[in-house]
Amino acid sequence: MAGSNNILMWFRADLRVADNPALHRASIDAAAAGGAVLAAFTICPKQWQSHDMAGVRADFVLRHLRELSADLGKIGIPLLIETIPDFSAVPKQLGSLARTHGCAAIYWNKEYELNEIRRDAAVATACQKAGIRSLAFTDQAMIEPGEVRTGEGRYFTVFTPFKKALYRTIEERGGIKVVGKPKKQPETGIAASPVPEEIKGFASHVDDAATLWPAGERAATKRLEGFCAAKVTNYKAERDRPALDSTSALSPYLAVGSISSRQCVLAAMEHNKGMLDGPSAGATCWISELAWREFYRHLMIGYPRVCMGHAFKPDAERLPWAWNEKHFAAWCEGRTGFPIVDAGMRQLAATGWMHNRVRMIVAMFLTKDLFIDWHQGERFFMRHLIDGDLGSNNGGWQWSASTGTDAAPYFRIFNTFSQSRTCDPDGEYIRRWVPELASSEGGEKGPIHDPSELPPLARTRLDYPDPIIDRTKTKDRVLKAFQSL
Ligand code: FAD
Repeated sequence: MAGSNNILMWFRADLRVADNPALHRASIDAAAAGGAVLAAFTICPKQWQSHDMAGVRADFVLRHLRELSADLGKIGIPLLIETIPDFSAVPKQLGSLARTHGCAAIYWNKEYELNEIRRDAAVATACQKAGIRSLAFTDQAMIEPGEVRTGEGRYFTVFTPFKKALYRTIEERGGIKVVGKPKKQPETGIAASPVPEEIKGFASHVDDAATLWPAGERAATKRLEGFCAAKVTNYKAERDRPALDSTSALSPYLAVGSISSRQCVLAAMEHNKGMLDGPSAGATCWISELAWREFYRHLMIGYPRVCMGHAFKPDAERLPWAWNEKHFAAWCEGRTGFPIVDAGMRQLAATGWMHNRVRMIVAMFLTKDLFIDWHQGERFFMRHLIDGDLGSNNGGWQWSASTGTDAAPYFRIFNTFSQSRTCDPDGEYIRRWVPELASSEGGEKGPIHDPSELPPLARTRLDYPDPIIDRTKTKDRVLKAFQSL
């Protein structure tokens, strides 16, 4: 084993070996100092529970750890796994690991959620006291969140000018760069920890998650390559059609970090003449969606109140949301009687994932039609999504509820039925997830979008719930509530 010049690479939401800035630097610095790299991952069940992490996401993390441990093993890096209740115990545990294994430094890639930022600050302070170097790297974004600002130095609150400034900054800095895999490390003789089979309290609600969402860096890269080869060109035209499976479904992999947004953008740029904003409408649009993810990270840094359960617009905290247990249960269980909403909620239940357009439809339905507090939907999503991500989830909910920055204006209320007809014209997506409607016709006038229009007898035969609300009567309530703020 190398001496006390080893470096501890602390993995968190960056479960990959390629294009991992902290790991890359750790391998260079350890080699220069005649040491080796060791890796650590901390499982914090109590903290994860308080963050509403879904069982399917915890399972995805465990499966990724197995792949990561094997990949690291091939280059001589043992992955040490520590299970501790919550973030408060992390500084002590990492310090002790570093001391035990002769590590002079701990490196990690930054996270931007408030509790994670506080945890990292506590680790950095503990390291300083113990004489251990600590170094944090930008990984989750193309440009460090918070660095892209307006001409007056303020944080952007509107997406389009943010995106323009982001692209300009990337170009000024010489484009997007990725780093390679570390070389094989000197032998340390330290054994990797076994990865737990499961974590108590985190049962996955998705039966065949391992088939639907194979874990690891190779699976993520394969998905990216497949998407770029077959789908990115038509992405702009087809991305709002949930039946077509025309999006990348890479969000779970980006959430655990088995692929980086830089790798994704570079792959898309190959189909866009090397440009972020180029001749391929599909690739340009897809890169822009990745910029939304970046925008929401930037907002967490500029406006940390969004990480503390607050509405971005302070006035919106006074909205008199209407709690209705039966309506909320019907929404959660996909039996509202609104087929596109029910299809989306059942897709979430069956797979741990939902198409973006349908996320917007179900979120708007909950907040505008049922007028139920967006926090309820945000929490339910986090507890069921395999790609649960505080920034994007909070941003998506606040966009839909019109409480966020650059959100839908409050008077924009999706008409659930017209949304359904536009995004799922033939009813194929609905039929896939709502078997009661399997024989219903789609098309402009087809009853699949609104079975309540069918004659009573035909409706009874469907064995599908009646709509839980009369949409025509709910619009006034939400409009009045926003106007009275
Ligand atoms: P693609 O269309 O292939 O896009 C590529 C990537 O760009 C995505 O993987 C994602 O990382 C990013 N992206 C795309 N759209 C958005 C967006 N609107 N906002 C932020 N990033 C985006 N995304 C999450 O990753 N985690 C969440 O918890 C989450 N919760 C959401 C909740 C609501 C109410 C809404 C409306 C959206 C939410 N999103 C969330 C954003 C978006 O729905 C998903 O990122 C997208 O559906 C993932 O599918 P994909 O990988 O096929 O995306």
